[in-house]
Amino acid sequence: MSEIRTRIAPSPTGDPHVGTAYIALFNRCFAHQQSGKFVLRIEDTDQARSSAQSEQDIFAALRWLGLDWDEGPDKGGDFGPYRQSERSSIYSNHIKTLLDNGSAFHCFCSAERLQQVRTEQMANKQQLGYDGHCLRLPAEEVQSKLAAGEENVIRMKIPDSGDCVFTDKLRGEVRISWEQIDMQVLIKSDGLPTYHFANVVDDHLMAITHVIRGEEWINSVPKHVLLYQYFDWDPPVFCHMPLLRNPDKSKLSKRKNPTSIGYYRAMGYLPEAVVNYLGMMGWSMPSGEEKFSLNEMTNEFDLSRVSLGGPIFDIEKLDWLNGKYIREDLDDAEFANQFASWAFQAEKLAAIIPLIKQRVERFSDVVNLAQFFISADVKISTESFEHKSLSVNSNLKILQFALWRLETVSDWNREEIESALQDLANKLELKIRDFLFPLFVAVTGNAVSISVIESIAILGIDITRARLRQAITVLGGISKKAAKNLEKEYRQLG
Ligand code: GLU
Repeated sequence: MSEIRTRIAPSPTGDPHVGTAYIALFNRCFAHQQSGKFVLRIEDTDQARSSAQSEQDIFAALRWLGLDWDEGPDKGGDFGPYRQSERSSIYSNHIKTLLDNGSAFHCFCSAERLQQVRTEQMANKQQLGYDGHCLRLPAEEVQSKLAAGEENVIRMKIPDSGDCVFTDKLRGEVRISWEQIDMQVLIKSDGLPTYHFANVVDDHLMAITHVIRGEEWINSVPKHVLLYQYFDWDPPVFCHMPLLRNPDKSKLSKRKNPTSIGYYRAMGYLPEAVVNYLGMMGWSMPSGEEKFSLNEMTNEFDLSRVSLGGPIFDIEKLDWLNGKYIREDLDDAEFANQFASWAFQAEKLAAIIPLIKQRVERFSDVVNLAQFFISADVKISTESFEHKSLSVNSNLKILQFALWRLETVSDWNREEIESALQDLANKLELKIRDFLFPLFVAVTGNAVSISVIESIAILGIDITRARLRQAITVLGGISKKAAKNLEKEYRQLG
C-alpha cells in the first residue's frame, strides 16, 4: 500500500482555533501511527481575510502543542508549494481540463441577476442555487463574451437528478441528493480558485490518502467526489470528525467558551494537558486511561475508536486534567522553571516595566500593581462598577460594545486599540474618562490603575475578551433580548 498521507489545511483568517488543533491532532496520530506523513497546507485563497500574522500564529500555536508537521510552507517537501496563494498557475492549468471536457462552464451572470433568482426561489420556496442560465448559452456567444473580456466565473456542472453516494470512514454510506447541490463556483472573477476547487486539486497533487476534517464539511463531499470524477482521479478516504461542543451542546463558539489556543497558553495551561484533552474528544485509549501523552495516543491510534457523539469541550474537565499534569509530571524544580518562563516572558516584561516603573518605590510594590497581568481573573463585584454617572446598564453596554469593537481590531497594538475605543466613545457621546471606567475595572480590577489601553494591548484579545465577559457576568449578564437590542444599537453606530 502506498504511504499514508494526511493534512491539516487551515485558512489563516483569525486566531488559531482549538478546533484546528483537534483536527491536526487526529490527522497527525493517524498518519504517524502508520509511519505516514502529516502535511500542513495553508488555504489562503481568500486574500481579503488571510493574513501573514494569522499564519504565523497558527504555526506557533500548533508547535506549542507539539503538533508539528512533516511538510509545510516553512519546511518544504516534495509536494510544494504548500501555500495556496503560491499555486495559482496550478489551478489555472487544472481548470482548463474541466472546461475542455465539458464539466465546467463560464458564467457571466451579474450579482443583480443572481440576487433576483434567489429572491424568486425564496418566494416559491424552492431549493436555492444557481439556475443554470449560462449553461445554456450557445458556444459562439460564450466565445464572443470571452473575447470581449466580459467578467465571469467558472462553475462546475452538477447532475440534475439522483443521489451522490459516498463512504465516510466513521459513518459508512452517506447519501445526498444532487438537487441539494449548487453549481459551485470553482474560479472566481478575479481568477482565484474557491476553497472546493483548490482543496480537491491540492489533496490530489499532494497525494493525500485520508481527508480527516470536521463534520461541517460533510455536505461539501458531493462536490468534491464529483470533481475527482471529472478529473478521473481516485478520491481519498473521507473521515468527518464530530464537532466540538460547548457544555450546552451548541457548536463550540468563542461567545461561550474561549476557543483560541492563545488563550490557553496565556492562562498557563500545559500544552501536554491541552493535547491530551483534545485527544479525549471523541476518542479513548483502549485501556480507558484518561491521561495519555501524544506518543501514547499515536501508538494506540485507531480511527475505529472515534465515537460520533458530539464531544463536549468543558473547561472544568480540562482544568482537572491540567492540575493532574502539574501535580504528577512536574517536580518542584520543573514547576519553578516552567512557571517562571510562563510568568516572566521577556517580551511581556519589557512591555510591562515602563508602565509600572514610575509608580513603584520598592520591588515589593510590583506584585500589587501588576498582578492582573498574570492572574487568571480579577477580583471584582457589582460595587466595583459604582460610578457617579454610569448606571449598571451603561456599564454593561460599554463593556459589550467595547468587546465587539476590539474583536475587529486586526493589528493588535496600542494605537489601533486606542483609536477603536476613542471612536466608540465619540459615537456613544461619552467622555473618554467615563467610557474607560468600566474597562479599567474589568481588565485591571481597579478603577485607577496603569493605562488600560496599554494593558489591553499587552494582555491580548483572548484574555481581554475573557475579562470583559467576566465583568458582564458580575454585573448580572445580558439577557438574550437585551443582547438583540444592543446588537441593533451597535450596528446603527456604524
Ligand atoms: N481551509 C478549510 C478550513 O479552514 C479546510 C477544510 C478541509 O479540511 O477540507 O477548515
